[in-house]
Amino acid sequence: MRDFSYVRANSLDAARQAAALPGAMLLAGGTTLIDLAKCGVAEPETLVDIAHLKGLDRIEVNERGATIGALARMSHVADHADIKSRFPAVSEALWQAASAQIRNMATIGGNLMQRTRCPYFRDPANFPACNKRQPGSGCSAIGGVTRGHAVLGISDACIAMYPGDLAVALVAFDAIVHLGERHIPVDDFFLLPGTTPDREHAIEPGEMITGIEIPGSASARRSTYLKIRDRQSYEFAAASAAVGIEFEPDGRTIRDLRVALGGVATKPWRARAVENALKGKVLEPDTVRAASLLAVEGSVDHGANHYKVELAPRVVARAIRKLGETA
Ligand SMILES: Cc1cc2nc3c(=O)[nH]c(=O)nc-3n(C[C@H](O)[C@H](O)[C@H](O)COP(=O)(O)OP(=O)(O)OC[C@H]3O[C@@H](n4cnc5c(N)ncnc54)[C@H](O)[C@@H]3O)c2cc1C
Ligand code: SF4
Repeated sequence: MRDFSYVRANSLDAARQAAALPGAMLLAGGTTLIDLAKCGVAEPETLVDIAHLKGLDRIEVNERGATIGALARMSHVADHADIKSRFPAVSEALWQAASAQIRNMATIGGNLMQRTRCPYFRDPANFPACNKRQPGSGCSAIGGVTRGHAVLGISDACIAMYPGDLAVALVAFDAIVHLGERHIPVDDFFLLPGTTPDREHAIEPGEMITGIEIPGSASARRSTYLKIRDRQSYEFAAASAAVGIEFEPDGRTIRDLRVALGGVATKPWRARAVENALKGKVLEPDTVRAASLLAVEGSVDHGANHYKVELAPRVVARAIRKLGETA
């Protein structure tokens, strides 16, 4: 870890100005940035500490939806009574992320900006080839060990999986990322790797996440986040699904359905084909099973991660069935 200077920002404008300087990086909870600096992936010249900025940790929920400040802690959002009742998938996604200690420190903005857990990306000393770290250097994962890598949204340049949980729930419910005055849908905030895997987010120098907005809906209210992982806690997803459902008054016909996948794609992955196949249909096990297979339409695996192609549709189907049982 190399030397860096430290700036404690005392206003939003000061934070943005400092963050626009070459080599500057924002520091919020520090739970992942410090790790990245230690392993030589992040080499900030200046750390701009935003953790003490006032007013960015608010959580407001009303009939229209929720607005969550970028500095709200994961644990506070997960445990907020109105988030739990109106956006259960958001609360559950946060509860199943990381550990209690990390959730108490980590912020919502930092959570969205977390980087891939691709082991080659995180080991520059032994694996210099990584297009995400060093554009044009190649990809050590392709042809290497790929058990944790993505099967959706990949490119010839990068197959790294987006590891976060919260963003999966946010994509399902059309959340919007606030970058100060500029607001963009969360689905557009995360970029596919294409030929430029080093560019992961639609954020410009001098911009920072100030908050997120989640529109309220009946499907968000009846929602869940199901996460399958190698061990039951403190582990990233092998495959996960955020699902929300709204039924017609008969309690069986699907009026609205939201499905997004985690653990299997290079960004939080909205599965619109599953949604479209089931809207207007009566919730029956065979129909749900067949539609859930559409979740991995277009997937490409690299051998060791083939299990994700089978696992993801099962996770989707199980989450939909679970919500049906509570109808
Ligand atoms: C062992 C371990 C297990 C984990 N398991 C999970 C898991 O299962 N699921 C999951 O979702 N996450 C998991 N995480 C990731 C964890 O959720 C993140 O470390 C945390 O959310 C990051 O938040 P932070 O505030 O500490 O960010 P920091 O470490 O402070 O910053 C992270 C990045 O975001 C940038 N940043 C911070 N705030 C802003 C902002 N407002 N605007 C723009 N950029 C900003 C920083 O510059 C940095 O690049 C795990 C982490 C660890 C270490
Ligand atoms: S998958 Fe992406 S992050 Fe991992 S080594 Fe290849 S280019 Fe780097």
